[in-house]
Amino acid sequence: MTDRKAVLEGLRDDLIERLERYRAHKEQRDGPLDKDMEEQAIELQNDEVVDALEREAEAELRHVMHAMARIEAGEGETCAVCEASIAPERLAALPFATLCRHCAEPR
Ligand SMILES: [Zn+2]
Repeated sequence: MTDRKAVLEGLRDDLIERLERYRAHKEQRDGPLDKDMEEQAIELQNDEVVDALEREAEAELRHVMHAMARIEAGEGETCAVCEASIAPERLAALPFATLCRHCAEPR
């Protein structure tokens, strides 16, 4: 399963890069407010979108790191909850899956 590890490493690097961009954007926004009200309102909306994207990327990064840790421990193909094997098709579709289809189903 070295392929899956390579895919996860690629995902991790992409996510870290994305998070760095979001954080750079937020640092810019903390500059002095010298714009008119309308521009500030647009800026605020943008920030909300960036915040949402940042939270999403952070959650995905946690999944990826978790999956990588499980692969390192030799448990990459084992469900973290019920310890059943995770179907190879599922791992191919979701390289960062750490749960079998059954345990991952929304309750
Ligand atoms: Zn399971």
